[in-house]
Amino acid sequence: MLAVSCQLANAVVTLRSMSDPLADITAPWLRRFRQSLKRWHAQHGRDLPWRNCRDPYKVWISEIMLQQTTVVAVKPYFERFLQRFPDVASLASANEEDVLRLWEGLGYYSRARNLHRAASAIVEHGGEFPETVEELQQLPGIGRYTAGAIVSFAFDRPAPIVEANTLRLYSRLLGYRDDPRSTVGQRLLWSFAEKLVPSKGAGEFNQALTDLGAIVCTPTEPRCGDCPVASCCRALAEQAQAEIPQAAKRPEITELSEASIAIESKGRFLLIRRPEGARWAGLWDFPRFELSPLRSHHAPRDEPAAPNDSLSNSRRTKKNRDRREAIGSSRGAMTATNLPASPLKAAAPQEIAQLEQRLVAEFGLVAKLTERLTQIKHSVTRYRITLDCWHAACEDSREVTTELDNAWVAPADFEQYPLSVTGRKLADLIVRKFGKDA
Ligand code: SF4
Repeated sequence: MLAVSCQLANAVVTLRSMSDPLADITAPWLRRFRQSLKRWHAQHGRDLPWRNCRDPYKVWISEIMLQQTTVVAVKPYFERFLQRFPDVASLASANEEDVLRLWEGLGYYSRARNLHRAASAIVEHGGEFPETVEELQQLPGIGRYTAGAIVSFAFDRPAPIVEANTLRLYSRLLGYRDDPRSTVGQRLLWSFAEKLVPSKGAGEFNQALTDLGAIVCTPTEPRCGDCPVASCCRALAEQAQAEIPQAAKRPEITELSEASIAIESKGRFLLIRRPEGARWAGLWDFPRFELSPLRSHHAPRDEPAAPNDSLSNSRRTKKNRDRREAIGSSRGAMTATNLPASPLKAAAPQEIAQLEQRLVAEFGLVAKLTERLTQIKHSVTRYRITLDCWHAACEDSREVTTELDNAWVAPADFEQYPLSVTGRKLADLIVRKFGKDA
């Protein structure tokens, strides 16, 4: 009789949990959870350069850097950034290129540009750092998580947080098997986070949650034996840690072929500033073109092209058209044998000719491709790109007919420009191969 009533009670609990995953989050549950977490954090919390700091500016910089980036990668960037821009005022008054130069290599460059814009907005409104989630979310690049982190870490006010570590932790605690990134999943997790956060000591509590997710409740093989909140965990009770959270859908990878051309004239190389809306907007790069239509084996015809990938200048001048026609008729298709020996497989003559024509069409430059310097393979979001890097000689560099910002730069001055990752690799190669005073 007793066994039957226990089974019934368990069934009632399970049904209640299925209809409302937060039904079991009662006051005693919360008390137990918070106490266990606090005790664990006092002993095992991570010692990070941006911890134990109530400066909202530093919290903000660290949180933006940590988006999509590991703690190990962020540490040196954080220290350098703070040295150069110690407060909102110094960041607001900086040149965007200086900000991007310090960010170079960290990726997701819109984060740096948004930081710069947000700093300017704060200074324009008197320089006081906003203290509420609502105000912070008005600033460029600050979403609900970052706002909650700043408000709780810096001002110690209760604000919920959900980021990668806590998304995983909450999903397991609740035994939530559906997609936690869906609208329904997000609503549930944010409601859970609101219940969890205490009215006092919210900063340390939220940091403890992220630490627990990072150190113990790891994506694979969570250390449930060391977990301070194991008794509160539904995934553990159901032995479902491996299935929870539901894996994010991986985007289909698209292969692209591109070419980057280091056009040299009188020992200087043409750099262009990547425009708004393009990949790596605001950074400088060597002229870069999509090749995929020329190499159909890399990208099937019906495959969508990467948005804003090439720097095609749609408004071509008549002068450019004239020059293109001139080069097309006078030089014809350059043959691969015109190229010096290259360790790489020779490009098709048609490809070389078309690249030279595009230099005329998009930059008004008559230049001759002389050597394929290297090939770089890299990934950007869902695109896997094979980038052929060329050297081209240009005799007449007086006029570059593009609306993009551009500059002829000596290799010795490459360091002064914030470059894309592949742009920096090519710049370093040019310095090694031709010297700083090419
Ligand atoms: S018991 Fe395991 S799965 Fe549950 S919260 Fe702790 S580490 Fe994560």
